[in-house]
Amino acid sequence: MKPSLMDYTQKELMQMIKPSFRVKQIFGWMYHQYASDFDAMKNIPKSMKAELSEKFVVNPLTIVNKEESSDGTIKYLLQMQDGKTMEAVWLKMKEEEIDCDGELVHEARYTICVSTQVGCKVGCSFCLTAKGGFTRDLTAGEIVAQVVTLKKDNEHKHNRKINIVYMGMGEPLDNLDNLAKAIQIFKEDDGLCIGAKRQTVSTSGLSTKIDKLGEMDLGVHIAISLHAVDDELRSELIPMNKAHNINSIIEAVKRFPIDTRKRVMFEYLVIKDKNDDLGSAKKLVKLLHGIKAKVNLIFFNPYEGTEYDRPSRKDMIAFQEYLVNHGLLCTIRDSKGMDISAACGQLKEKTEGEI
Ligand code: SF4
Repeated sequence: MKPSLMDYTQKELMQMIKPSFRVKQIFGWMYHQYASDFDAMKNIPKSMKAELSEKFVVNPLTIVNKEESSDGTIKYLLQMQDGKTMEAVWLKMKEEEIDCDGELVHEARYTICVSTQVGCKVGCSFCLTAKGGFTRDLTAGEIVAQVVTLKKDNEHKHNRKINIVYMGMGEPLDNLDNLAKAIQIFKEDDGLCIGAKRQTVSTSGLSTKIDKLGEMDLGVHIAISLHAVDDELRSELIPMNKAHNINSIIEAVKRFPIDTRKRVMFEYLVIKDKNDDLGSAKKLVKLLHGIKAKVNLIFFNPYEGTEYDRPSRKDMIAFQEYLVNHGLLCTIRDSKGMDISAACGQLKEKTEGEI
């Protein structure tokens, strides 16, 4: 497997490729024109392209499959050079708005959900990705290329804003070095120029790694997949809770450098008769006391073979009302892509065997 040019920051490429202005041109081809290979780079000398193509690939991903939902969510199955596959999701967060004079009020807003590993070691009991075990970490270039590939496929211009959530397959903090590198590459002014504030790292709660990410001071947001308010249930849902219990996560969040204008997102996957009662809501309020938090309630999305059920809308709303009445900001996440394979790992599971 050759390294990808997307594995490197501009500075690193400038140390490897001379003269430096060629790196700026190559960056433009990769991140502004979304060139997938060296052939497309018209103003790069043939001899240089031949030399580079012996050592590197440009975009290491190809689209194997995609499913589009009626709400605009597009789920992609992407293949890497070694034939392994992973998923990335294009999410439409807000429709374009045009006023009565035909003027654009704001553009449609999109978020890309990216994967950081093939499979996952965490082994959450509600997750399809976990069932396949862990295969390998993604390289920084494979993380970066997901955004490039999806922007290209959706003809989303390089200078249009996009948000990134590290919430696809894998535990991002279990691949911290490559994650940190990808965050830096996304931020490059001559590249995609996606600021840290537009990037959210979602973790299942590796508390020691939350501290490490905080020490790196990259400026990204964090989201915590909490899902339960007592260690017994959380250990059933997320086995590694035994090593990183709820208390250790809450303490790590309190130490994390957070932009004062922002809130830490706590994801709470609501499962019928498991954690959808008001007793759990009460404990959640107590647990998050003193943290500038926002809670995102997510309907559990059943898949074939799961033992868990989707909660009722009534219970979900009662849970939300309890949190709001006790001073917490709380949203219920629309189940985007309900008509496609929206739970992580579903499209991969469905497609494997077909490719
Ligand atoms: S939910 Fe996320 S952290 Fe848990 S097993 Fe699945 S991919 Fe890993």
